[in-house]
Amino acid sequence: MDEIIVLRYGELYLKGKNRNFFESRLIRNIKYRLRDIPCKLNFYRSRYEVCDFANSDRNKIVNKLKTVFGLHSLSVAYRTETDLDSITDAAIKYVKPGKTFKIKAHRGDKRYPMTSVEIGREVGGRILSKINCEVDLNDPEIVVNVDVRETGCAYVYGDTVKCAGGMPVGTAGRGVLLLSGGIDSPVAGYMMMKRGLEITALHFYSYPYTSELARQKVITLAKKLTEYGGKFKLICVSTTAIQEKIHMNCTDSYMITLLRRTMMKIARKVAEECEAGCIINGESLAQVASQTLSGITVSNETVGGFPVFRPLIGMDKEEIIEISQKIDTYETSILPYEDCCTVFLPDSPATKPTIERAIKEEQKIENLDEMIEEAIKNREVIMIEP
Ligand code: ATP
Ligand code: MG
Repeated sequence: MDEIIVLRYGELYLKGKNRNFFESRLIRNIKYRLRDIPCKLNFYRSRYEVCDFANSDRNKIVNKLKTVFGLHSLSVAYRTETDLDSITDAAIKYVKPGKTFKIKAHRGDKRYPMTSVEIGREVGGRILSKINCEVDLNDPEIVVNVDVRETGCAYVYGDTVKCAGGMPVGTAGRGVLLLSGGIDSPVAGYMMMKRGLEITALHFYSYPYTSELARQKVITLAKKLTEYGGKFKLICVSTTAIQEKIHMNCTDSYMITLLRRTMMKIARKVAEECEAGCIINGESLAQVASQTLSGITVSNETVGGFPVFRPLIGMDKEEIIEISQKIDTYETSILPYEDCCTVFLPDSPATKPTIERAIKEEQKIENLDEMIEEAIKNREVIMIEP
């Protein structure tokens, strides 16, 4: 009897002819996640198993697999022969004297000579004859699962661990994630990776108004996201010169509106360069002045029909914080470093900006397009590795 880890995938089972594409990407992502741990990955139709690992690595493997998108759940299990003695030897390991238990059998192999109910009854009976305990089919303290597979073996296991769900990263294309140092944008990145997008992160800074520490914070956040999406590029673009120009020439209340439009224009160009099909940001409707319906309309106008995904648009801050705690970005996000959005912050930013007015304001800066090109040209690219 070998100790293994059984993996189950989620939504992929809905896929038809192109399931292979999704599966091979999932397998690649699992292998990448486990690359530093000696073990083997086997796969048979919708079930994968990790085997040949050291006992001391078991929990490490489980924790790493919990964050692989596309996996629905996993169980640490014993793989045994399908005869009742072998199954019982494994099942009895989960049962404690004085406790109530139930054998929950499932027969993937319909040629197996007993039904699920018969397997449960037989194995349960054998355990009862060896340990002083009781069977309780309705409300047992211990449930032992027995899964007889078509591949000629049985899996015997106790608990099932929930995994991250979603779709394998890399199966839905690429998106440019606008990554600030705040709470929202790492969560937005996490949510879109969960739907299979690979990301390239784009961060705007405004040195010397923003500090080196603020930049380090973004790198730390990006690193945390690699837990889910593997390695990716972080592109850092300075908006200092553009912000100074806007501040000098344009109406104060449009400062944020114009900065947002600049960010979107740069993101659109970066997307083209890295063959991304969408932009992702952490906006949530009405959260701050720039995230009103008018604010979003005016910044969106700069990218035409190019898709902009805002996975947090309908979420409350509290719900966003809950996810950021779950993915372990929260503690980093709340470190008090400034963001380029807080530089030259006007007293009362426009909550109902218009496209016409924004364009007029932009015309007050004669070489804005060149400045944008220049900012992109001077970008810094950092490879973020787990
Ligand atoms: P966040 O936690 O994302 O910073 P926030 O409430 O501070 O949220 P805003 O500052 O209004 O939100 O920014 C809205 C979105 O714009 C962010 O979620 C992010 O996607 C993008 N953004 C803001 N500042 C930057 C930046 N310096 N670099 C890249 N993207 C940014
Ligand atoms: Mg922010």
